[in-house]
Amino acid sequence: MSADPHLAGLPGTPRHDQIVAARAPWLHHIKAGETLRIVDLEGNQAVDFLLYSAADDAERYSAQDTVAAQGNLFLRTGTVLRSNEGRPMMTIAASAVEYHDTIGGACSCESNTLRYGHHTKAQHACVENFLEANLTEGRGKRDIVSNINFFMNVPVEPDGSLGIVDGISAPGLTVDLRAEMDVIVVVSNCPQINNPCNAFNPTPVRMIVAG
Ligand SMILES: [Zn+2]
Repeated sequence: MSADPHLAGLPGTPRHDQIVAARAPWLHHIKAGETLRIVDLEGNQAVDFLLYSAADDAERYSAQDTVAAQGNLFLRTGTVLRSNEGRPMMTIAASAVEYHDTIGGACSCESNTLRYGHHTKAQHACVENFLEANLTEGRGKRDIVSNINFFMNVPVEPDGSLGIVDGISAPGLTVDLRAEMDVIVVVSNCPQINNPCNAFNPTPVRMIVAG
């Protein structure tokens, strides 16, 4: 028996278990019925996340369809992540964090220079991670759509204004995603150091696939 607390309550048998280094990309194929658990090992680490259908990667995660179908901006336990064809791709089966963001977008060299100044131009960003991972399967910049930011806190004020503020996550907190179809998961373990989304200190996360 494993005493590993990060495996507690995970359905099925782990068949893939990997630490994704701070600032690194990750790509993995997950079959319908399998569960992906993301562990925020050190806390307050944004995990930028894209999804494609393995059968046809023209079908991919749609923030708009997901938000419209549930009538709510935040992703919580029970949220169904929907494709641009409105079909369920994955379901948030469990979340130790109250909610996750899908409106804050992914950082890029371009957005960094706009927001934080030209001295940030050389800093590695999420869009570069998405490209690096996607290029291994022939997808390019036009395949990068609005993403999910797991463990990132983007509150929406009553007047509609947004913030990117200190995370609500903490060391060892997890989110479990059950695949509803065969999917390709592409992750950027966010390298951002210019705002509090990673507590100004990008850290590793752990990806466990079980089924
Ligand atoms: Zn980022």
